[in-house]
Amino acid sequence: MPVDLATLARLQGRACITCGSTEYPLTPAGHVETTSCGAVLPWAVVACPDHAGERP
Ligand SMILES: [Zn+2]
Repeated sequence: MPVDLATLARLQGRACITCGSTEYPLTPAGHVETTSCGAVLPWAVVACPDHAGERP
């Protein structure tokens, strides 16, 4: 997953991982991993009500 500012908001659990919505309630949606300079970074992500239970 490429990381830009919009994606970063999702990765940080501040917006739905699927659509970027900040509509509450945002619920935990597991983790995604990004790779930076060979290091794998796990992120706890959230999903809006429409996307809760879906994987990115
Ligand atoms: Zn969503």
